[in-house]
Parts: sequence; C-alpha cells; structure tokens
Amino acid sequence: MEVQATFPRRVTSQVMVGDVPVGGGAPITVQSMTVTRTADHEATLQQIYDLAMAGADIVRCTCNDLDAAEGLARIVPRSPVPIVADIHHNHRMALAALEAGVQCLRLNPGNIRKPDHIRTVAAEARDRGVPIRIGVNGGSLHPDLYRKHGGMVTAEAMVESALTEIGYFAEVGFDQIKISVKASSVPLMVDAYRQLAEVTDYPLHLGVTEAGPPPAGMIKSSAGIGALLVEGIGDTIRYSLTADPVEEARAGRQLLEALGLRERRNVDLIACPSCGRAEIDVVAVAEAAMAAFADRKIPLQVAIMGCVVNGPGEARDADLGIAAGNKRGHLFIKGRNAAVVAEDEMVDALVEWAELIHEEGTEAALARVDTEKAAREAEKDRKRMLADQGDDVNHSAALIESIRLHGS
Ligand code: SF4
Repeated sequence: MEVQATFPRRVTSQVMVGDVPVGGGAPITVQSMTVTRTADHEATLQQIYDLAMAGADIVRCTCNDLDAAEGLARIVPRSPVPIVADIHHNHRMALAALEAGVQCLRLNPGNIRKPDHIRTVAAEARDRGVPIRIGVNGGSLHPDLYRKHGGMVTAEAMVESALTEIGYFAEVGFDQIKISVKASSVPLMVDAYRQLAEVTDYPLHLGVTEAGPPPAGMIKSSAGIGALLVEGIGDTIRYSLTADPVEEARAGRQLLEALGLRERRNVDLIACPSCGRAEIDVVAVAEAAMAAFADRKIPLQVAIMGCVVNGPGEARDADLGIAAGNKRGHLFIKGRNAAVVAEDEMVDALVEWAELIHEEGTEAALARVDTEKAAREAEKDRKRMLADQGDDVNHSAALIESIRLHGS
C-alpha cells in the first residue's frame, strides 16, 4: 500500500517560476540542468524535452555568453517547462537572459560580487516579475567570507553569504527569492540548510553539489536531500550527478515519490533479490523491465520475482507481477494468478498488462482472464519446481545446523 508522507512542511513564501509555484505549500518540484551548449538551441531543447519526460518540472541552462543568451531567446518559447538561466561572473549575462525571457535566474553570490551589479540585476528582475535563486556554493564562497570564517567553508559562512545577498536585493525592493546553500559534503549542506531555515522563510532549493557519478552521487544526494525533506525543509530539489541529466530528473522524481511527497507517476518496480530457486536471471529481467517502463507514465507497483514457488505470495500487494517457473512466466494481479506466458515474453507481457490495468483498472483486467485456470497452471509449475529442487534449495537447514552447533 502506498504510504503518504505526513512530514509537516516548513512554512515559506512562494515564488512563481513561470507557471510553476515553488514554496508556500506547493508540491515539491524537481529540477535538472542541461549539459548541451545553450547556443545550440535545438540540441538543448531536445534535452529539455527528455528531462521534462523524466520528471523535471523546471530546467536550468547556463547563460555563459551572448550566444547562449540568444539560444535562450529561442529555447524559452518552445520549452515545455520554465527555464532558469545560470549566471556566473558576468552580471550582463543575467540582464541578457532576462531579455531572452527566462522565468528565473540563478546568481552565485561568490562570483557576482559587486553590490551595484547585484542591485542592477535584482531591479531588472523585479520590474519583469522574475524570481532569482541565490545559489550559494561551498566551493565558490566569496573570498572575504572565507577569510572571515577562518579560511574554511562553514555552514555559517554559507548562510551569511545568502543573507548578504538578500540584503542587496532588499535595497531595491526585490523579494522574489529562493535560496540554495549547496556543498559537496552532506553533513555540511544539511547543517547549512537547517541554519538557513531558522533565519528566513524564503523557499529553499536543495542539493548536494558535485555529488559525482552514480551510485555514490545518488547516495549522497538522497541522503542529504532526503534528510532535509523528512524534516520538512525544502521546496525544490536537484540531484547534481556526473551522468546523463535524465538520470538526475528521474532520481529526483523517484525520491519525492518514495517519500510520498509527490503522487506516483511512473512504475515502482520491485524485484526479489534472487536466490537458489530462481530460474531466470532476475537482475537482467528487472533491468529490461526498467528500460521498458522508463518513459511510460504508469503509476503502478510492478514485481519481478525469480520463482513461482514463493514469488506471488511475497509480492501479493503489488498491482501486477510476474514469477518464473518451469520456463514460463506466471503473471499475477494483486496476488491473483491471471495468465501464463513464455519466459522470454515476460517483460512484454508486464508492459501490456500494466497498460491495460492503468487504462481499465484491476477488476476489468481480472474479468478478462480465467484466474482459476492460471492458478492451476501456477500450482503445477510450483509443484514441479519443488519436486526438482526440493524444499530447501538455499541450504538453509545446513546453515541453521551450523549456527546451532556453534552456539551450543
Ligand atoms: S524464493 Fe523465489 S521469489 Fe523469493 S528470492 Fe528466491 S527466487 Fe526470488
């Protein structure tokens, strides 16, 4: 059964990134960033579409030169999601990106340092009604702050950087703000976000910067972002992975779904770990199923089980599942046997039935099949497997014997 989150969320103000609300009780959004040259607008748009399909609600593109700004002017009107322009060093690129029509800016206070420049950009954003993310990064802290805090990147220094920037914005009456205080160290970023959440009510964008390639990057990001979300902190998130950004968007979406913070949109694939009973390569079948379901928006839990002896029982709560036995795949729906397919058609059958259940519902799908006949077939293969393999295929009895021997 799907567990819905009950974490109380921090109360924040709200900004609108185009038509997507961030903060103020809005659903937590997923962000990612393109890795194409922004000037190559066709390639960048293609990637934005891929990211949106994978679950990104908002996409960031770098605006590092005038060619990139021109690219943004072509990208923004055709993008399926709001675009944030990432600005470093040159405040003129922020002005050019605003001119291009972007729905949000990201400024790094560590490398756009002149108060005049900051105020100029904030005033222009104010006049256009465009929000700005103050994107503090532990790796590019303002040198003065770095020195002031003992030559170290500390949570206090990152929070101070954000507050200083808010002060410049306030001087021109600009408050359409969201903030990030990212670091590559998980404990450091958690500490910085916690401190920031104490002193401001602006919405927060969570991330572990330079988390690296998966799986370590996924683990670091999930640990840092997940820990804060469970505390109610965070309004929009980004996984920063050294990987195809589509993986970032998928991971972000999956984290929110796993925490019950966003409605399930894609298949939740579960699979048994495999054991001595498995007659198929569970890992390979699960990977093939992951690939087959990747771009299908089917919010069902689908199980892949290595054997029909225990699989259907172990995964009886799944919306749909398949278990291997005697070169056949036994398909079950909510724990009830529904069909038998050839072993090499298991993944195709799962996709077909998942689509049917998604469109017509569980009862309608079950009404199409002879569940009693499917159950008889499953029982036949189950018995055959038990007869072939015995009932202790994992040699558990010998292990228990050994435990008892050593324990006595
Ligand atoms: S008993 Fe069957 S379903 Fe359970 S782990 Fe082993 S192969 Fe998978």
